[in-house]
Amino acid sequence: MPYEGEFAGYRALQRLADTERVKQLLTRARVHAPASSEPAALPAQAPTADDALPQFVVAIDGSQSEVDVRNGYPGAKVGYLTVASVLLDLEAVNSLDERRPADPVEFRKTEQAATIDAALPGSNVVTRTHTSARVAFREEVYDVFHNGVVDSQDLTPLLDTYEALLALKPRTRPQVCPYNLDTACEEHFAIGHGLSSCACTLKRSVWSTDALRSHEAFRDTGTNGEAFGEIMQVWERVLLIHLLRAFERGDLLGSAHRLAFFLDGPLALFGHPAWLSAAISSELQRLNAKVRESTGRDLLIVGVEKSGAFVAHFEELDKSETAGTTRFAPRDYMLLTDDYIKERIIFSTSEKRYGLDTYFGRKFFYKTRSGARIVASIPFLDPKQDTLETADISMYPAFPVTCALLDKLVSSRFPNALAPIVSAHAQAAIPLHLGAKVLEQLAKALMLAT
Ligand SMILES: [Zn+2]
Repeated sequence: MPYEGEFAGYRALQRLADTERVKQLLTRARVHAPASSEPAALPAQAPTADDALPQFVVAIDGSQSEVDVRNGYPGAKVGYLTVASVLLDLEAVNSLDERRPADPVEFRKTEQAATIDAALPGSNVVTRTHTSARVAFREEVYDVFHNGVVDSQDLTPLLDTYEALLALKPRTRPQVCPYNLDTACEEHFAIGHGLSSCACTLKRSVWSTDALRSHEAFRDTGTNGEAFGEIMQVWERVLLIHLLRAFERGDLLGSAHRLAFFLDGPLALFGHPAWLSAAISSELQRLNAKVRESTGRDLLIVGVEKSGAFVAHFEELDKSETAGTTRFAPRDYMLLTDDYIKERIIFSTSEKRYGLDTYFGRKFFYKTRSGARIVASIPFLDPKQDTLETADISMYPAFPVTCALLDKLVSSRFPNALAPIVSAHAQAAIPLHLGAKVLEQLAKALMLAT
């Protein structure tokens, strides 16, 4: 909450940066001089795609916000999460490309229709007979996954996919009772499926989604952006796996390569639910093995980053010393290695691989044909791909098609983001009405694709 006079702030900050203490700290801090050093790796032209482009793209893009509510308690808040899923018809994109620009108003209509949402208790919002907002939050998170039915014919809830991933979680380090922060219960146990209870005498309800541990980030006062953000990223990523598992049930995996999946953000999970990353990775490898067996091709999945250190670094790296030119030519790419990341982007001397516990894919820089800079990641779809050691792109057979797709979908006017990819192609977007016959829509799309 800003208080009076806070926005006199800028100058105060500058004064702070000039103080002796700050200066002294900076003399001890490592400095990287970007202008003087040549890049440790050089961009190369992306291989051209021999395989046909998929005809459809499923884009999954979540957002979160927190709103103040009046319930008689001070500072009561509710988190509002939405996940928009859109099916883009690339043939429609082709004809659209001929009559740009697209109408953003038309897009917003489709975007709303494609959105599923959830409200979660924030601070000072206690539902039912719960004893704290944190417990209310935990139960609502469970309900989001329990009630998350994506298709009216395949009634399998999102919870089913989440619990399949939970089953892959190692049981070597049982977590503390989820009531620990409320009642100081010190029991440690592995969270089971569905509804269970703590082993202590109180036998309180424990939900399978408690294994996400996001309630540990939940604050009794103030904002809960961190806890809501964790649930958001879990939801987006579980939805991706859920759709693939639904294809598997519907015997559609043999056509899955005709669809590409675009995810908002890196192919990773951060914070308390980071353990899901390894589970998602092994589930993706299991599903991809089936896809490969029947088609000889890999799944097409790409995560696109809008901001952060990698986006800033790519921008900096692309500046060349000659004014008016850039280091990356159109269609140039760079696959990032562990050494490069630790040396140039996130400084570290650790032996442990960058993102080992959080990433289920690896990052690359790509400059599209139109000149947009994209920071994206592609998944590890077999054990060999699961490395940051080498920059050998031939290990990732889906990479050329991924680049060709980015060329097609990203215009230079809308760089670096997923939502604009979708909005730019508004008229080609078919909202996926989750809860309607999504699988039927997707199956139809897959059958149409040739
Ligand atoms: Zn307990």
